Amino acid sequence: MTVLNVAKFGGTSVADATAMGCCADIVLANPATRVVVLSASAGVTNLLVTLAQGELGDEALGAQLAQLTGIQQRILDALSPNPELQAAIYAQLAEIEAMARQARLHTDAELADRLIACGEMMSSRLFTELLCQRGAKAQWVDVRRLLRTDSRFGKASVDLDATRSLCQQEIAPLLGDTILVTQGFIGSDEHGRTTTLGRGGSDYSAALLGEALDASSIEIWTDVPGIYTTDPRLVTRARPIPEISFAEAAEMATFGAKVLHPSTLQPAVRRDIPVFVGSSREPAAGGTWIRATTRSSPLFRAVALRRNQVLVTLHSPNMFHAYGFLAEVFGILARHRISVDLITTSEVSVSLTLDHTGSQSNGEATLSDKVLAELGELCKVKVESGLALVALIGNRMSEVNGVGSQVFATLQDHNIRMICYGASAHNLCFLVGEEEAAAVVNRLHQGLLG
Ligand code: ASP
Ligand code: MG
Repeated sequence: MTVLNVAKFGGTSVADATAMGCCADIVLANPATRVVVLSASAGVTNLLVTLAQGELGDEALGAQLAQLTGIQQRILDALSPNPELQAAIYAQLAEIEAMARQARLHTDAELADRLIACGEMMSSRLFTELLCQRGAKAQWVDVRRLLRTDSRFGKASVDLDATRSLCQQEIAPLLGDTILVTQGFIGSDEHGRTTTLGRGGSDYSAALLGEALDASSIEIWTDVPGIYTTDPRLVTRARPIPEISFAEAAEMATFGAKVLHPSTLQPAVRRDIPVFVGSSREPAAGGTWIRATTRSSPLFRAVALRRNQVLVTLHSPNMFHAYGFLAEVFGILARHRISVDLITTSEVSVSLTLDHTGSQSNGEATLSDKVLAELGELCKVKVESGLALVALIGNRMSEVNGVGSQVFATLQDHNIRMICYGASAHNLCFLVGEEEAAAVVNRLHQGLLG
């Protein structure tokens, strides 16, 4: 394996010229860093999503565009770049305005993706300029030439083989002496139309490019110094985790720890590429290494929390001693491309929670009226919201005696709506009322993680 590091910087890391300066320091400090993947500057994608929805009146539209221009202009002012780049950014802003106006007349997922992708296009151009100003040989690359997806706008799936051969042909030969700066989150379909990978997808892009180029490491630079035992905003005693396994980190990303997009680790696992997570603001603070195997594998590693969960309970007397009911339910969910997180069954009912992670770039609801109507033809459907999913992450949890009693003793004062235990040795999770979530996380952390 060649020594090649792919470094990804998140929205807060490239929020303004000062933050971008810290990222440039990080890139230039590691000669192995040859590919840099960027998010849009903080707040930009949210603004673009609102524009893509096409529902703003004249005044609100003007205000959103002004905010967007302000973010880019402040970076331009600080960089005082060559006139060409300045013109390119202005052209991009003009294009955004034209698309936003078009979206007000008629919006669709394709237009939305074209619009939403512009944030990364601008941040990556600005950062390339910054690296060049620092004397680096840096080159801007349009990732749409490299990352091939299907045409599912808003949350496209990646064609790994095509992406690999495009990366190998187009950019592998340049890596020897050039730092390539490109966009996270976006790709293109076989017709060259812009697609996006779902919100927060830049981490995933970095891992995909790392996989396609046989990288030896992937760095995800964000605004927290690594993965913590739980959210430090909820539990003051939360600690950073220096090293964690792929399996544990994947469970954490899936079940709420917002540091990583949940799909990020798949490419890394396939090629066994270690992933580092750290803060671009304080790189010296260290971070978390995620690897196939780790020196320690504690029974309890971390607690993750995911809010805004929806519990769907399907009830039908026909389920009693029948077969095929679940197949029909999952058939409907599969047709609508809805993925299920937790599931429990009884004789005449089945309860499930839905996976909202890496949600549609354009903010579309997962559980549409159409899905509910189709399920309603099959059985009685009850939808409850106001719930939170708490996941305890660790190792061998389903193999060690007494885990259940230890966990539930900790939670004896709380009402637990649903439990999933045993399917994975790395995770035990349950659903609680939103209002109890913070207390439950605190209890678990205090009782099991100290
Ligand atoms: N800019 C995109 C978002 O805000 C992708 C990313 O930052 O990962 O969702
Ligand atoms: Mg992110």
